[in-house]
Amino acid sequence: MQTQKKYQQLLSFEFYPPKTEEGALNLKGVHQKLAKLKPDFFSVTFGAGGSTRDKTFDTVVKIQEQGVSAAPHLSCVASTKDNIRQMLSSYQQKGITKIVALRGDIPSGMMSAGEFRYANELVDFIRTETGNAFQIHVAAYPEVHPQAKSATEDLRNFKRKIDAGANAAITQYFYNVEAYFYFVDACEKLGIDLPIVPGIMPITNYSQLFRFSDMCGADIPRWMRKGLECFGDDRASIIAFGNEIVTRLCQQLLDYGAPGLHFYTMNQADPTLAILDNLGFGA
Ligand code: FAD
Repeated sequence: MQTQKKYQQLLSFEFYPPKTEEGALNLKGVHQKLAKLKPDFFSVTFGAGGSTRDKTFDTVVKIQEQGVSAAPHLSCVASTKDNIRQMLSSYQQKGITKIVALRGDIPSGMMSAGEFRYANELVDFIRTETGNAFQIHVAAYPEVHPQAKSATEDLRNFKRKIDAGANAAITQYFYNVEAYFYFVDACEKLGIDLPIVPGIMPITNYSQLFRFSDMCGADIPRWMRKGLECFGDDRASIIAFGNEIVTRLCQQLLDYGAPGLHFYTMNQADPTLAILDNLGFGA
């Protein structure tokens, strides 16, 4: 395991765009609580095929207006170059300077694959159209993307995004610290020298976590699965267990030089705040 302490520590929080008034009100409170930690940015997810296009845009603009940098996720699957061009232009007009550039997944039932096949093509398009107007983050998969032909191919494909002009990466969440550092070392061997920020998923509900992890290829180690299953419906114990495990994961990541932490907040402040409090990031 190599140490990687080369970058200033980054802190970022991810939201999804709320669908209802109630959700928007909740997110406002969550944002206020997390903003006290002075993150580098908040990011807002984007439904593939543009399904959350306006809601992502509105959420990003609201956050940016409140004085913290906001980064929209932008997925290119099922999109045309014109769609993407328009969105880039709208974001530029609002003073947005960061983007999380993704391929996304075609929703079941949607036929059109659009004009982009992979995220490296989107990164290339953003650079061609807008030069250096945006700092571009891309996705990384220390435990290998579920559709990848092999770990080696996946790493090569990750490098394509960096070569196309990405500035940093955020990983899929994981609970095996070794997977992250092995991935970072492998990237270094390929000459990739950019911050690869670990994505952190707090644990609050295990059936949801298991379902989600199966879909996105995140491994839940057996000891964690078994430990969580023991708690049944005892939510307080699940939260305490999750808090302890994820705090320890973050501590190890930071101790060994990870360039920061990106939290998948699921639009909840308290689980993320509890972990950051344990780590000594006071609000
Ligand atoms: P890519 O980098 O294009 O990779 C996808 C697959 O194709 C991989 O298996 C890769 O090995 C392979 N591949 C890549 N390039 C090539 C190539 N040139 N030739 C052949 N094969 C190639 N999804 C959403 O819908 N909305 C979001 O807001 C969102 N946010 C995310 C944020 C983060 C930090 C992460 C880690 C994921 C996020 N996702 C989101 C999920 C993501 O869209 C999916 O994981 C998707 O399946 C892959 O997107 P990607 O950008 O990693 O794709």
